[in-house]
Amino acid sequence: MKNIILTGDRPTGKLHIGHYVGSLRRRVELQNSGKYDEIYVMIADAQALTDNFDNPDKVRANITEVALDYLACGLDPNKCTIFVQSHVEQLTELTFYYMNLVTLARLERNPTVKAELKQKNFGLSIPMGFLTYPVSQTADITAFKATTVPVGEDQLPMLEQAREIVRSFNGLYGETLVEPKAVLPENKSCLRLPGTDGMAKMSKSLGNCIYLSDSADEIKRKVMSMYTDPNHLKVTDPGNTKDNPTFIYLDAFSSDEHFARYLPEYANLDEMKAHYERGGLGDMKVKKFLNAVLQETLEPIRAKREELAKDIPAVWAMLKEGSKKAREVAGNTLAEVKKAMKIDYFVE
Ligand code: ATP
Ligand code: MG
Repeated sequence: MKNIILTGDRPTGKLHIGHYVGSLRRRVELQNSGKYDEIYVMIADAQALTDNFDNPDKVRANITEVALDYLACGLDPNKCTIFVQSHVEQLTELTFYYMNLVTLARLERNPTVKAELKQKNFGLSIPMGFLTYPVSQTADITAFKATTVPVGEDQLPMLEQAREIVRSFNGLYGETLVEPKAVLPENKSCLRLPGTDGMAKMSKSLGNCIYLSDSADEIKRKVMSMYTDPNHLKVTDPGNTKDNPTFIYLDAFSSDEHFARYLPEYANLDEMKAHYERGGLGDMKVKKFLNAVLQETLEPIRAKREELAKDIPAVWAMLKEGSKKAREVAGNTLAEVKKAMKIDYFVE
């Protein structure tokens, strides 16, 4: 069996450092590992419209932004297929057939969807499109016969849903679809990077992000005003590093080399954490170090992004080409699905 990756992001904003550590960094490593036969990276505009249907301009503008973020981080259109979801219409058709295999109760039980519904204040007026997005995500994954889906932790319920649909489909209609598995970041702090405000998840919709495209000044301003341990009032107070986003970001981004370069009084993060926990290490010093680490990591990404942004038509041409290729692949799976479901009436 081939090793195939499908993954993607919603064009609801520029990508942030949560996306980077949760999924993007890993994708680039997997892409360059040479271990995968095919890699598909989808800009999920149709899914973004399920809760932004009243703001198509936002979704449209962010397709360019997300594509620039991808290329700047090292996704390479020669090694992977980057495409736009709405331009692979076969995905919509697959979604419609898969809907027969899922109950309303099952969709309402999805913990990520539940949390998002609450966050978006839909009340009783839940758009059907939004509630069913896990089904459309199953279509995205299975259309490419993906075996591997590199994602952040919030996507695990979607993968579970996808596996259930695959099993019922194959059980009912015969072995056709492939069961995917999620690949989570190995580093625990990257599973769900918190926001700069200390909220559980950095999220485009919550406005608590450090974006990959932020200027050096913006990064510094955001880091310096980050939420830390609210009980760590004086430098001498013992501090908490566990629920403290500054330390979680350091877990996700810093290396021993960073310490050698910017803060040689500690050999590594464990030593710095121990000092903070026993008292005597101020937040300012932690933030200055974090700022140095983030600046070093994000500077080359930002520079490449600025270069790529000079030729937006080339970015759109790449997406058009990728979408064409994705349509062909999804079309083949759709044909197999229709055959399995015995609705391939007019095929010679
Ligand atoms: P939205 O608020 O519009 O849903 P989002 O910030 O949640 O946006 P998505 O496009 O939904 O971003 O998620 C894209 C990918 O990034 C998914 O694999 C998701 O798991 C991962 N991801 C998003 N936010 C984080 C985060 N804070 N930490 C780790 N991974 C994340
Ligand atoms: Mg999301």
